[in-house]
Amino acid sequence: YGEKPDIVREKSAELYEKAKQYFPGGVNSPVRAFKSVFGTPLFIEKGDGCRLWDADGNEFIDFCCSWGPLILGHNHPKIREKVIEVMQNGMSFGAPTSLETELAELIVKNNQFLEKIRFTSSGTEAVMSAIRLARGATKRDKIIKFEGCYHGHSDSLLVKAGSGLVTFGETSSAGIPKAFADDTIVVSLNDKNALKEAFSQFKDQIACVIIEPVPANNGLLLQDKDYLEYVRSICTENGALLIFDEVISGFRVGFEGAAGYYQIQPDIITYGKIIGGGLPVGAYGGSSEIMSNISPEGSVYQAGTLSGNPVAMAAGIAQLTELAKSGFYKELNNKTEEFTASIQRYAASKNYKFKVFTIGSIFWFAFTDMEKVQTSEAIDPASMDKFKSMHRELLNRGIYFGPSGYEVGFISAAHSKMDLEKAKRAIFDCLDIVFKN
Ligand code: PMP
Repeated sequence: YGEKPDIVREKSAELYEKAKQYFPGGVNSPVRAFKSVFGTPLFIEKGDGCRLWDADGNEFIDFCCSWGPLILGHNHPKIREKVIEVMQNGMSFGAPTSLETELAELIVKNNQFLEKIRFTSSGTEAVMSAIRLARGATKRDKIIKFEGCYHGHSDSLLVKAGSGLVTFGETSSAGIPKAFADDTIVVSLNDKNALKEAFSQFKDQIACVIIEPVPANNGLLLQDKDYLEYVRSICTENGALLIFDEVISGFRVGFEGAAGYYQIQPDIITYGKIIGGGLPVGAYGGSSEIMSNISPEGSVYQAGTLSGNPVAMAAGIAQLTELAKSGFYKELNNKTEEFTASIQRYAASKNYKFKVFTIGSIFWFAFTDMEKVQTSEAIDPASMDKFKSMHRELLNRGIYFGPSGYEVGFISAAHSKMDLEKAKRAIFDCLDIVFKN
């Protein structure tokens, strides 16, 4: 018990110095730089099951899981074997393969909210294409997004977004032409009136409303079902399309994602992360009618040299095959519920100003006493100091969280009860330290 010495970071520090010569900030994606926590990143060497090892040989139980894709844990043998099998025949053809159809079939046959999909190489591309599709199908330009929802880094969507932007205290990116930002209308989550006003102010101009139905990039801002139903109905009334960005929630809160969880039919759904089993994949889909607007059937253009890449498809097929098995989500979600409830009980017993929000196998630690946190404005930026010290204490006890208090944690099927028990004890100790200081 008590504060522990910092883990050794010599090799990581060396690797970081070298990386800084070649990459801005030494990284290829901003949050990885650990800028808002320890200040220098850990370089990872290996992952297996729920565990990670860094370059200095430190071992961690991983609750970041590559930011969500690894729902079966690291280096899952079924995924690895399938990828190796497929790779024996070559790695990219730029031509159709049966693997694409196999993965699409797995997704569509088990999901009543979709009829056709198109694969991309990232979540960003999937969302960017979905927006273009909505604009093309409705022949309207404006879009509505919500403050704190992150939808990847395409121009129209980097306005009041969460994720790395909020982590670094800037919610919109530089380099977005004013004309793009003007077509992106941003409203607060959980505010029916704001949405209604936006629709009346821009009558017949709104192509789509895009939302993370499980907003998970600016804390976990769980919305009421009633609110999401309102979002659905106001879109329908105004001839705007509803896009559910399920890059995180898809195949995470259940096989049918948030659409299935809330039983709400969006017009377009975007996916990423889990469907690639750890390889770069994204997808967007909807009814056959809406998807018929996509080239070469329709006039909305979208393409990709590596779209539907066979190696990535193989990983997706292997992973989704496991997820489609009966009982998979029940077990994973129960395990998560037990874990988070017991942390919540501990914090409550000590009167700590701390809440754990959770859905499916996603969870978020919030340094607050609010019963619900449903808007980005409800998060006190000062509470991130607590996360910062907690993050360091966790690493020192072999527990790896994503390096930002605005990001959520994930539990995988590879986290055993024993791993979770061990992690819980470390978390209790860290809470004691953070709230003592
Ligand atoms: N949408 C959501 C909801 C996301 O969480 C993310 C990534 N975290 C993206 C889109 C972008 O996906 P990618 O990083 O694969 O481009």
